[in-house]
Amino acid sequence: MNATEMSSLLRFVANKMIASEPELTRLDMAVGDGDHGVGMQRGFTAVEKLLSQAPGQAEDIGVLLTRVGTELMSSMGGASGAIFGTLFRAGGKSLTGETVLTTPLLTRFLSSGLDAVCKRGGAKPGDKTMVDALAAAAAASQSLGSEPLYAALPKIARAAGQGAEGTKQMVAAFGRAKALGERSIGHPDPGAVSMSLILSFMAEGIKR
Ligand code: ADP
Ligand code: MG
Ligand code: MG
Repeated sequence: MNATEMSSLLRFVANKMIASEPELTRLDMAVGDGDHGVGMQRGFTAVEKLLSQAPGQAEDIGVLLTRVGTELMSSMGGASGAIFGTLFRAGGKSLTGETVLTTPLLTRFLSSGLDAVCKRGGAKPGDKTMVDALAAAAAASQSLGSEPLYAALPKIARAAGQGAEGTKQMVAAFGRAKALGERSIGHPDPGAVSMSLILSFMAEGIKR
């Protein structure tokens, strides 16, 4: 997948994330302050606008993903603006100079993004955050070696979905859900669901 194809896939993902606002709002109402859906909607509306103005302008997929991260970080606000912004910026930076996304490069993106998110926010797997979905996705991607991206993405998305599902049983250690303590059990972490949705929409929209 080259930068032009990636830009159009990211626009597909952005529109799907915008449409997921009610679901994400409902999840953050249960364990947080209810603003996660609107935050993601705002961030991906800005991303969609950015990509529609500069379709495939960058040949460098690292530069493209880094720009998406900067846009998320500056438009979303909240904990998740910093967290998802960091994922795309650090993951994008690790792909600087690359022009075609492959499964090994997606592994690099996810692993570098995971490291940066953990450093920035201090969360580890098991803390009931998006890290649980991201770490599962990074591990699955790594295990797939150089399988073609269109075949690997559904498996990576499924692993992220299982990671998000797993947060239901966890007690939140970060963010507003922490105040709920044991009462957060039974509800998935909204950011983990967002992470798994982003990868599912990538799997859904990728052209083979
Ligand atoms: P806020 O908590 O500021 O209202 P959002 O509701 O948009 O922000 O996002 C909440 C999500 O952000 C959580 O569900 C969690 O996945 C993620 N998150 C919050 N703090 C952290 C952190 N320190 N590390 C990783 N992810 C985090
Ligand atoms: Mg919130
Ligand atoms: Mg908030």
